[in-house]
Parts: sequence; structure tokens; C-alpha cells
Amino acid sequence: MQRTWLIAANWKMNGSAALVDEMTSVLANITNSQLQLLLCPPATLLCRFKTARNFALGGQTLSHEVSGAYTGELSAALLQEAGASYVIVGHSERRTLNAESDELVAAKLARAVAAGLTPILCVGETQMQRQQEKTQQVIARQLDAVYASQPELLAKSVIAYEPIWAIGTGESATPELAQQTHAFIRQHLTQYDAAAAAKVKLLYGGSVNADNCSALFMQTDIDGALVGGASLKPAEFAQICNSAKE
Ligand code: PEP
Repeated sequence: MQRTWLIAANWKMNGSAALVDEMTSVLANITNSQLQLLLCPPATLLCRFKTARNFALGGQTLSHEVSGAYTGELSAALLQEAGASYVIVGHSERRTLNAESDELVAAKLARAVAAGLTPILCVGETQMQRQQEKTQQVIARQLDAVYASQPELLAKSVIAYEPIWAIGTGESATPELAQQTHAFIRQHLTQYDAAAAAKVKLLYGGSVNADNCSALFMQTDIDGALVGGASLKPAEFAQICNSAKE
């Protein structure tokens, strides 16, 4: 199955108006028709991007509610109005630091799809879970929480495998290990919708940089990357994007 690439930047609580301008001009040189570029900056920066650009914008999270008295929250509609067409859901930092449960992640993903945003669902295991050989069990639980009761959402989703031990540590999963888990994810998803499982984009995230991305991108079931730290450096992020072959 021929799938196109998606390379997404997660700026987390970093960036500035200056980085918006610098990144926009560096990415303007990338012309790969098989590659969708995506930047997920802090929500306050979304409106700073010009509408004429060669990449999409996304939020880093959203509320599962439509609107109302939820101080500090951001709805799908607000993100869209600010220019977002994607949104990250269930990032491990939100699952851990904001106590987002599997159920809440499922509700957020459903809300994103209902509003017309493409969700990027993050799944992945801790170091301890890997050592206990529970990686597949944990990921299956995270996937089942979303798709068992709403399998129709798979065709509208992107999924990012982000081993927690690899996020921000400089220790990426090896290409072989990442491929093994991506293959497991794709296989597991066939029970919900076999056609969608074959088509769904599976991103790898966890210390992706200019040196390790090419080997990751050679793996059959890796369709791109979710990049944290290296996405704050325009030249390096452009190098990563240029490693996705046409
Ligand atoms: C992330 O947090 O989504 C991420 C992949 O971060 P990093 O690339 O810095 O490991």
C-alpha cells in the first residue's frame, strides 16, 4: 500500500513569533508533493502564521466539550478558527502531567473528528512496561479505548507511536524496533476496519533528528514522524523533512 508522508512538529510550550517567521521561510523551500508538513505550535501562535504557506497547522490538545465554562480550555472550533486542521490527542505528556485517561482521550478524538479536525492519536509504552514486555498490551489498550466503540474514526485518524522512554531523551527507538511496533499497530487495527488500517498514517516519535530519520523512514510501516526538540531548529527540521523521499 502506497501511503504519502506526514511530518509533524510538536513545539510543546516553546517557540516565539520570531520562530514562526523563520520556520515559515525555511519550510518554503520544501517541495515534495508526497509530503504533508504540519506544525503544531502553542495555540497562541497559530494566528501568527500567514495563510499562504506550504504546511498545515495543528493544535497540541483540545477540549472534549463543544464550548462553555471551561476556563483555559480550547475547543475544536476555536482551533479551527485560528487555522488548525489537525490536533494532537493523547500525547504522553498530557496523559501523565494532566492525568488524561484513555476514556478522555477517546472523547477528545471523537470531538476532533466531529468538528472536522484530523486527530493524531499518540500511543506508547514506558521504559518499565517495555522491560516487562508489556509494550503490545499497553498499545492495544490505548487503541482499543478509542476504536473498539467507534471504529469509524480510524479512517479519519493519524496515529503516532511514541515510546515514552524515547521522548526528549536523545535515545530513539531503533528502526527495527519502531517497525516491529508499527507493524503490530497496523495489524491490531485491522479488526476495526481493514481498509482503514492499511491506509492509516503511522508516525514515529521519540528523539527523531537529522541523523536518525532516514533509517526510520526506510521502514515499511513508518509514514512520517512527530518531532519535538528537533522541530524547534528550522534547519534541522527541514533536513528531516527532506529525508522523506518523493
Ligand atoms: C514528542 O514529544 O512528541 C517528541 C517526539 O519529542 P522529541 O522529538 O523531543 O523526543
